[in-house]
Amino acid sequence: MTFESVAIIGGGESGVGAAILAKSKGKEVFLSEYGKLTDRYKAELEAHNVPYEEGGHSIEKLKEFELVVKSPGVADQTKVIKGLNDYKVPIISEIEFGFYYTEVGIIGITGSNGKTTTTGLIYHLLKEAGVHAQVGGNIGKSFARLVYEDEPCEVYVLELSSFQLDGIKDFRPDIAVLLNITPDHLDRYDYDFENYVKSKWRIAMNQTSEDLLVYNADLALRNNEPRSIAIGEEEIKNNQLSTESGKIFDTTNTTLKGKHNRFNALCAIQVVERFGLSDADIQKGLETFVNEAHRLQVVAIKNGVTYINDSKATNVDAVFYALDAMEGNVVWIVGGTDKGNDYEPILKLVNDKVVKKIYLGIDNTKLKEVFGEGSEVESMKEAVKAASKSAKKGDVVLLSPACASFDLFKNYIDRGEQFIAAVKSLGEE
Ligand code: ADP
Repeated sequence: MTFESVAIIGGGESGVGAAILAKSKGKEVFLSEYGKLTDRYKAELEAHNVPYEEGGHSIEKLKEFELVVKSPGVADQTKVIKGLNDYKVPIISEIEFGFYYTEVGIIGITGSNGKTTTTGLIYHLLKEAGVHAQVGGNIGKSFARLVYEDEPCEVYVLELSSFQLDGIKDFRPDIAVLLNITPDHLDRYDYDFENYVKSKWRIAMNQTSEDLLVYNADLALRNNEPRSIAIGEEEIKNNQLSTESGKIFDTTNTTLKGKHNRFNALCAIQVVERFGLSDADIQKGLETFVNEAHRLQVVAIKNGVTYINDSKATNVDAVFYALDAMEGNVVWIVGGTDKGNDYEPILKLVNDKVVKKIYLGIDNTKLKEVFGEGSEVESMKEAVKAASKSAKKGDVVLLSPACASFDLFKNYIDRGEQFIAAVKSLGEE
């Protein structure tokens, strides 16, 4: 695609990354942000001489550009995108844009759950074995920024969301990982699950026989071109993970707890095997891996009660695996902004494992309808206090909300940090 001018919609990490990359390639660039830019990003745009607007989008101006790069947070249904569609301006995602400017190999990881964990683990395994990799995409640095920085690198390890994949055309990862597809974000897909499924499969749509696809055996293959490795229950027996080449790795001495994390680990192993890592390097890497916070993170053990922060569990499937991984009785802190969730699939597990429910949200009606009565609270402090009162020695207090956090918190990180603070201050009043 040839173009000399690029407009960027959205001024977060993706948009700013795309803007500085475009500028460094000599393009005319303009960035448009509906809300407010942070001081840090403003300073960065100014340092690169990228003009921008805040507080709204001027469609009249934007339509004059030859290419539009859209940030993942901007939905197709928004006025600006609809407006630009009317003018037939080509619109791509920042992932596609970054791809235009690099020849480096790419590992792309997507799925409804487990992206960050698997991305982090792949990166860790490679790095510990001495492979020069860079990590980013939907976490940390945007792909466009990584390409702009152009650090010495053999492979990019990219976490990819469905929103980022929606805007690709030629993007083609050498290795794609499709972890799972369960209902999430349906508000952005016209409440049609199939639309969301299609979006996830886009990760493999340009792959050829030279590429590799590692995917969940529960999914029906939609692209037969790449060499593919399906991973399912057959390959994972307790803590033993069997690779396609017949090797066995063990997760006993790792922090990767629960079936879902063993699955993530095997996906990661299948990927890194392609880089010729030794068995010893892989096993050691598994054992030294520490996951990001807010994902089944053990925060403290107090009076024999284990407090676990799983604030990142913002959908029902993540909660399923969290509860499944719990060994003792569970005092469950759940709730927040409902995303059109269907809670039925976890009802049995909840009835088996949960001894007490603590509903933490502004509107708990739907949760109460499905799971029955529980305590209702509107702050994390109250939630943790109520949970600690109910929990007995050997129990687990699990924050695994199944919902988004925006009713009471800034985001899932804020929610998780408030949980940690509340647990730490227990008994101090
Ligand atoms: P993502 O980046 O896709 O949101 P994370 O690795 O951040 O995934 O994990 C998000 C939540 O999903 C956590 O609560 C985690 O325990 C859970 N989870 C992780 N891997 C899986 C998986 N393979 N299947 C289901 N849930 C998972």
